Amino acid sequence: MTSECIECSLHPSKPAHFQCNECSSAFCSECIVQRQDFQNGQMETNYICPFCNIPADPVGVGNLLEPFWTRMPKFFTYPLQTTPLILAVVLSLLAIIFPHSLIVWLICFIVSTKYAYAILTHTAQGRLTPPSASTELFNSDVSQVFKQYVIFALFFFIFSLLFGWIGIICGGLFALVSFLMMPGMLMMLVTTNSILVAINPFVVIPVISRIGGRYFLMLVFLILLPAGPAALLYYVPAALPAVITLFLTALLKHYYTFISYNLMGYVLLQYHEEIGYDVDYDDFIESTQPGKKKKKITPEQARLHHIDILIKGGRHEAALEMVREELSDNREDVKDDVTLSEKYYDLLKVCQKRQGIIKHGPEHLRLLISSNNKLKAIKVYEELAADKEIIIPIESGLAVGKWLYKRGDYKRARVCFTRCIKENPKHAKLPEAYYPIIRLFNEHFNNPAQARKIGKGVLRTYPKHPLAEKVQQYLKTIG
Ligand SMILES: [Zn+2]
Ligand SMILES: [Zn+2]
Repeated sequence: MTSECIECSLHPSKPAHFQCNECSSAFCSECIVQRQDFQNGQMETNYICPFCNIPADPVGVGNLLEPFWTRMPKFFTYPLQTTPLILAVVLSLLAIIFPHSLIVWLICFIVSTKYAYAILTHTAQGRLTPPSASTELFNSDVSQVFKQYVIFALFFFIFSLLFGWIGIICGGLFALVSFLMMPGMLMMLVTTNSILVAINPFVVIPVISRIGGRYFLMLVFLILLPAGPAALLYYVPAALPAVITLFLTALLKHYYTFISYNLMGYVLLQYHEEIGYDVDYDDFIESTQPGKKKKKITPEQARLHHIDILIKGGRHEAALEMVREELSDNREDVKDDVTLSEKYYDLLKVCQKRQGIIKHGPEHLRLLISSNNKLKAIKVYEELAADKEIIIPIESGLAVGKWLYKRGDYKRARVCFTRCIKENPKHAKLPEAYYPIIRLFNEHFNNPAQARKIGKGVLRTYPKHPLAEKVQQYLKTIG
């Protein structure tokens, strides 16, 4: 991540992948909402700002990368991976086996150049592992690769003209400026595939200035990188056979070429927005995080995720509206969905929608009870019971009362059963509330007289209820 990293509006430590043009909120890969739409004859994923419900723009993958100046060790080890290493060794061996063969030299040159260029484009596309030799080397178009040599030759030609005609100072100055601009020109060549654009100072200089001081930092690295190998070579004992020195020189040359093209590719990737180079977000994610391949999510899952993000972002009214829509569809799969019901209930509370709670609260309680969610059911019951206008079905009241009773929460159990009785006078199920109340008065509230009184009342009113017999037997134990 660069120092100017844009962070997710909901996760202040995560780099953002998308940003909304409308509300300027930024979202990480977890917080963006994905929507599958049928476009151009195939399903395509659109990335939607959860707040504005419109497509958001990728921030640019530069936002997701560690800056090139902190990953120097990785540039050094890049050519040591299988393909570039084997290639460098084989090419160096060929160089010493056929030291005077022009054909071998030319083939080596072409292969090495193609591979280095493949490293550059491959890295610039966000693929941070080396390209495989087979596909990149022998199937792709060669002309693109040799365009860079056209540029090198052109500059060398101008340099020799200036050097020969005007003098060493003029030639030297031109060489220096060309050297400074060369990586920028190569990047423009990759980006536009046009020599004319790549050598146009009116294109290259603005691009360099957009990268800013970091561009010159890259140049410093490009200069310093060969210093190590060169120093190594300097210390190779003179007594070593010439053939080994030759081999090492060739090997280090390839090593350095691969590193520098990898570095340039990475800088192009990191600054692709500034340079104007397109990096496809989906390809980038797939190539950098193969394990995290885009999960296929159903439209229902996407909507639930959208609701969660709205809640996380504090957009409760909007979330409430979405949940309401989900539930109003009357779909079988959401009808008994406790999670969705809970979201709706909590949002109604947060948004202080009393009418909504009066309507949805009892239904939510019923779902909690049928899914045996005791603690939550008790809590919701008491919240609902505090509002006199809310009608709680007697079945729900009885269920909660029995749970409280079983937990030994006798006072709250009594309050619950009493409400059942008051709310549903003469209801056929009331003995289920009276029986535990009789026991509570006798066993826990030290009031057998009251227990007896209620018991007699139950026997009078509900003589045929299955619990009547139990009440009668219990009254006998009170005496
Ligand atoms: Zn937005
Ligand atoms: Zn996030």
